[in-house]
Amino acid sequence: MINDAHVHFFSSRFLELTAPEAGGADRIASRLEWDPPGTATELGDRWIAELDRRGVNRAALIASVPGDAVSVAEAAAHHPHRFVGFFMHNPLGLDSEAALDRAFRELHMRAVCLFPAMHGYRPDDQCVEAVFRAAAAFGAAVFVHCGVLTVGIRRKLNLPSPFDWRLGDPLGVSRIALGFPQVPVIVPHFGAGYFREALMAAEQCPTIYLDTSSSNSWIRFHDGLTLERVFRTALGVVGASRLLFGTDSSFFPRGWHTPVYEQQRRVLASLELNDADQAAILGGNFERLFPA
Ligand SMILES: [Zn+2]
Repeated sequence: MINDAHVHFFSSRFLELTAPEAGGADRIASRLEWDPPGTATELGDRWIAELDRRGVNRAALIASVPGDAVSVAEAAAHHPHRFVGFFMHNPLGLDSEAALDRAFRELHMRAVCLFPAMHGYRPDDQCVEAVFRAAAAFGAAVFVHCGVLTVGIRRKLNLPSPFDWRLGDPLGVSRIALGFPQVPVIVPHFGAGYFREALMAAEQCPTIYLDTSSSNSWIRFHDGLTLERVFRTALGVVGASRLLFGTDSSFFPRGWHTPVYEQQRRVLASLELNDADQAAILGGNFERLFPA
């Protein structure tokens, strides 16, 4: 059983909020050579057809700009047993508390996604503690993007992205997470360049999970490092029960990013991991964190 812990939901509203000056979702999609997303319901249905085609059971759908949880909520409402709603949130936003409350209470989001490098705060800032408090109150998880942060769509549209990568240190995340032992925390892409720090944070804090998603191109910052060694090292520190398979899929026509899956399957096979551990990484851990 495959569950994908990392799929971006690039809705029409996402495109409009990301590039408000660009003349609407359809025009932006055509500039990007993407299929127009249509309504959130249409896009959700398209993702379901795609997951069915690829043999994927469930997926975390990430609303990828603040203010777009409503799109993911609409898609998830039609497929509540297939989609798990995640949403990007800026804790420095003026209406942070109300937005969190609405996303969890009304829109049934199950994880809040923080991007400290994008929005300019430390991962151990007080504003993050408030996010953890809200997540704890609603039984939700917290996803914190650490390390290298590039946003493909911003680059393609020539939007400035002056993100402060120093703010993505996973050790800042563990400082806060330790105070909320009931809140699962997901650090994507093995820390995306802060691999050592992500492992240290997870060593100290048993609620930290690492997602395996994307091409993990941060590996090139380490001379000679391979995805095999990344998996082997991570398994040695956190074990199979705290790794969440993900692809970082996002737009159509590409759809579900099969090459990422195939690469990780090859790595898992080369590590001669037993079936139970493979099943945990590919879907079981996600199921435990986000029961249908
Ligand atoms: Zn992503």
